[in-house]
Amino acid sequence: MAELPNRCAVPGCPCTVKRGLLMCLAHWRLVPRALQTAVNRTWRNFCSARGVGAELRGKALDDYREARARAIAAVRREEALDAGVPGEAAHG
Ligand SMILES: [Zn+2]
Repeated sequence: MAELPNRCAVPGCPCTVKRGLLMCLAHWRLVPRALQTAVNRTWRNFCSARGVGAELRGKALDDYREARARAIAAVRREEALDAGVPGEAAHG
């Protein structure tokens, strides 16, 4: 099965990452611990939800997508703070 190289999930980041990783290490480090855990947990849930039926699987995927979106939002917030752009950070 041919797969596309994995890109870091943070918009604008050119890094490729290993399969199974959401973002490059530099960005992952900006994600708060609790959110890292949530991403890993929901991803594992989704992976182990094979064969449990579309409804449960869809729910697991929703959970993962939400955790992932929150992790990305956290990184963008950190980056906005780092860049010291006034006002930008407020529009998460
Ligand atoms: Zn990145």
